[in-house]
Amino acid sequence: PMSLSDPVKPHRICVCVRKRPLNKKELAKKEIDVVTIPGNGALLLHEPKQKVDLTKYLENQTFHFDYSFDEDATNDLVYRFSAKPLVKTIFEGGMATCFAYGQTGSGKTHTMGGDFSGKSQNSSKGIYALAAQDVFTLLRQKRYADIDLCPYVTFFEIYNGKVFDLLNKKAKLRVLEDEKQQVNVVGLQEVPVSSVDDVIKMMEVGSACRTSGQTFANASSSRSHAVLQVILRRRNFLHGKFSLVDLAGNERGTDVSSNDRHTIVETAEINRSLLALKECIRSLGQNSEHIPFRMSKLTQVLRDSFIGENSRTCMIAMISPGMNSCEYTLNTLRYANRVK
Ligand code: ADP
Ligand code: MG
Repeated sequence: PMSLSDPVKPHRICVCVRKRPLNKKELAKKEIDVVTIPGNGALLLHEPKQKVDLTKYLENQTFHFDYSFDEDATNDLVYRFSAKPLVKTIFEGGMATCFAYGQTGSGKTHTMGGDFSGKSQNSSKGIYALAAQDVFTLLRQKRYADIDLCPYVTFFEIYNGKVFDLLNKKAKLRVLEDEKQQVNVVGLQEVPVSSVDDVIKMMEVGSACRTSGQTFANASSSRSHAVLQVILRRRNFLHGKFSLVDLAGNERGTDVSSNDRHTIVETAEINRSLLALKECIRSLGQNSEHIPFRMSKLTQVLRDSFIGENSRTCMIAMISPGMNSCEYTLNTLRYANRVK
């Protein structure tokens, strides 16, 4: 019999939703919480109890996902049911991918990186660190120790369709595809790691690099995808790869107020990549021959993740609970619903 502490064997695709708590600012503004998680993977987006007149998006709507996490869920719990079951995949020669999706401020970086901005040490670990821990635990197990696997880390950012190496001063990298459709990010630093601490160090280096040298640091990081990969090599040949992706905020799709050319181009690129991602994950789920990975740089770079018998993906869709976010929340839920 299965218990809650014993997640099911992963299907190829797992889609879950995580609701964050109302923050101080929202509480101060008496924001209304419009998301209820009754259990069993269900999520209810509902009309507020008080009368508010901006409810054109809200009829009561119920969605079902593999798991829905409410505001009390810890990073540990979310990890245990989403990315953790995928760790074994890379030891078995497969590709694992975990995406954090949602509007800016909904908790993507909190979930993936934990408090990794260097602000404090005692706050909870995110999926990056938790997955790294499990990778090193498995590496020490005899059955895997015997096959001589070497772990490496890469960390890069995709912004406006261009790839930047976060472990090498944001060097701009070219993406090449050979005649066998193998995709290669030329010159991407692959740093050998021998402990969880090594991985954490790389996360710090990369995260600092991600937000440095820009006037609107946080704003711009919300408009790029960050990809941290843990790679296992066996005698230098690729054995397995776990890609952990903190996606660009999806709110831009509904933002039509901008006249700024740069913003319009940026928005178009984010929309294109998130659309491409949806299509590629769906193709993986349907075992389709045709994977439209060339639709965007993000999906092109992650091409390996969408092919092969032994590829597994999980998506964690983050949502803000507040009434004022409900339009974005609904977009996020619909997207996640299409992916599963
Ligand atoms: P995003 O990366 O999606 O833009 P963040 O992860 O930066 O969002 O989250 C925005 C703010 O909300 C941060 O201050 C973060 O610490 C906080 N936060 C997000 N999710 C949670 C959560 N589940 N519990 C507590 N605080 C959270
Ligand atoms: Mg973020």
